[in-house]
Amino acid sequence: MSVVSDNLQRILSTLPQHVTLVAVSKTHPVELIQEAYIAGQRIFGENRVQELVPKYQQMPKDIQWHLIGTLQRNKVKYIAPFVSMIHSVDQLDLLKEINKEAGKNSRIIDCLVQVYIASEETKHGFSFEEASQLLGSDFTHLYPNVRICGLMGMASFSNDVIQVKREFTSLANFKSEMETRYNIKLPVLSMGMSNDYGLAIECGSNMVRVGSSIFGSRTYSY
Ligand SMILES: *Cc1c(COP(=O)(O)O)cnc(C)c1O
Repeated sequence: MSVVSDNLQRILSTLPQHVTLVAVSKTHPVELIQEAYIAGQRIFGENRVQELVPKYQQMPKDIQWHLIGTLQRNKVKYIAPFVSMIHSVDQLDLLKEINKEAGKNSRIIDCLVQVYIASEETKHGFSFEEASQLLGSDFTHLYPNVRICGLMGMASFSNDVIQVKREFTSLANFKSEMETRYNIKLPVLSMGMSNDYGLAIECGSNMVRVGSSIFGSRTYSY
């Protein structure tokens, strides 16, 4: 058994059945992804297009690749043919571009609306108000090649459990509110990373994005 496979089994054993694990492989080589793949993992997350594309090309085609990081509009075309889910839709213009490129590929791409819940300026996302405006629009007809599956949020990078919990809970509550107000279904709530996924699940997350706890620490970060 490899370290990666041990880590993976350990984390999976703690996750409730309804929670999906996205193994965040950014900065790590395909050899490590291969280890996770052999251990059975099929959903991987990357945050840069220029890293995702070569990994997609080199790895088995039954992998579901999730784009989890900030996405520039001009790069959507490179991932539109194959990406399985985009967690980081943080602007309407980006959603329009994804819809356009998905159409060119005769695809419907699963997307999450990223909502800004942290106290840090460096994090991205729609405000609750902007997200509500989008979710209240006739988005299935406006963007027929996009499927809005739910919401994504990143909590503050903080040891303050109460604050992080408040942030996660605010997004979980917002999701329920949107579903009721607009009579829509948002099945996915993507919240939680290595240091806070347990708390995120307690607060209602059903998709966690875990990197360093599986693959080890990254030598560089962005
Ligand atoms: C890197 C990253 C993760 C994983 O972070 P870890 O702390 O390594 O688990 C999750 N989500 C996003 C958006 C990321 O960029």
